[in-house]
Amino acid sequence: PTALREIFTEKPKTKWTDIGGSDSVKERFDEAIEWPLRHGDLIQRLGVQMPKGVLLYGPPGCSKTLTAQAVANTYNLNFIAIKGAELISMYVGESERAVREVFSKAKQAAPCVIFFDEIDSIGSERDSTGTKGLNVLTTLLNEMDGFEALKDVFILAATNKPTSLDPALLRPGRFDSHVYVGPPNEVARKEIIMLTTRGATLAKDVNFDYLAADLEGWSGAEIVRICQNAKLPALRRALKGEEDTRVTAADFGTARAGVRKGITPE
Ligand code: ATP
Repeated sequence: PTALREIFTEKPKTKWTDIGGSDSVKERFDEAIEWPLRHGDLIQRLGVQMPKGVLLYGPPGCSKTLTAQAVANTYNLNFIAIKGAELISMYVGESERAVREVFSKAKQAAPCVIFFDEIDSIGSERDSTGTKGLNVLTTLLNEMDGFEALKDVFILAATNKPTSLDPALLRPGRFDSHVYVGPPNEVARKEIIMLTTRGATLAKDVNFDYLAADLEGWSGAEIVRICQNAKLPALRRALKGEEDTRVTAADFGTARAGVRKGITPE
């Protein structure tokens, strides 16, 4: 087990424009974050119940973490991130203390986002998590319940396994807003490829539309990896003093063959 490390607030630099295909996801946060921030008084006066927590769900490597960071960046919020697995690995008692500390730090640092990554590690259906997970989950639920919305602290969580989550987490007043962050579609894939190859010199045979169509089914993280790997042969050629150091279509093909597709139909 690990001891409680200091809990840090960050100021993420990720912007929506760094995330290929983020347009539709971005819109989901206008209400959940912008309204409470700008119109808290009105919302309170009208007695409107805003979602307390937002759950981001979708396959691995498809920009859930980037999304949480972009939310913090867009609305100029402090950011506290903690991983479920990290909480579980702590000494007995420390995990609960960490959860409470995350909330109290966030209140001090408001306006602030708390991001619980891999929430399924602590909040899976009761039989599979064990007592350790259950204790942490109970602490988390207590903190969320004792916590007034509209205090400029926003709670985000991410999971690859939404169906295995303990239903208690999804009840009203907890993670009651759900945002699907799915695999990139063709437009998003093209954006990711363009973002990742920005600055590289590309040969004439490199066609972004073809690549975007060809990379159907790969995650954002895998596409980034493929594009990064595609640039390596060009670097090698440059280091050998060769004249033509452009990244070619063949380089993308080789890179694609070397990266495994991880997303499964579930
Ligand atoms: P996990 O569930 O594995 O934690 P995640 O959904 O949180 O994954 P991120 O950590 O946000 O995924 O993404 C991993 C990496 O993949 C990013 O750091 C980035 O390099 C790349 N990536 C994924 N999706 C995109 C995207 N849409 N645009 C640009 N880069 C992306």
